[in-house]
Amino acid sequence: MTMSNDQSILKIKKQKNIALIAHDNRKRDLIQWVKENKEKLSKHFLCGTGTTARLISESVDLPVRAFCSGPLGGDQQIGARIAEGSIDFMIFFWDPLSAQPHDPDVKALLRIAVLYDIPVATNRATADFLISSPLMNEEYSRKIIDYSKTIPKDI
Ligand code: PGA
Repeated sequence: MTMSNDQSILKIKKQKNIALIAHDNRKRDLIQWVKENKEKLSKHFLCGTGTTARLISESVDLPVRAFCSGPLGGDQQIGARIAEGSIDFMIFFWDPLSAQPHDPDVKALLRIAVLYDIPVATNRATADFLISSPLMNEEYSRKIIDYSKTIPKDI
């Protein structure tokens, strides 16, 4: 295995930019999880898709920047911000039992999150492990594949 020069490093700062997203059948669970972790989350910057962000701000009294609703482009807005580096952590309770009108956007968002090596929790157990990690209070170096180094020189 090559230890690669084909990677760039991006920092996740101590104070993280956390996106919160939940499909309709998972919103109650996410709100409950945010309530239980309010103190820890209050140390970070929070944002989310439109309805999720609004419901969390109303019921947990934490500031959450709202993007568009997911089916109206919110997932794509969050994906774009992951790509540009202004979101570096995601809790995304997607619904494994229902098809969504914006399934392609959901897939794209999860792909971008993997590509940019950001922590992602898609269920409560993972969210519990992430929020309990000592890395929540530290800087972290994430490793991004540098595709420019994979392009053949002769094209
Ligand atoms: P919503 O979007 O928070 O606006 O409901 C969530 C989603 O479906 O991605």
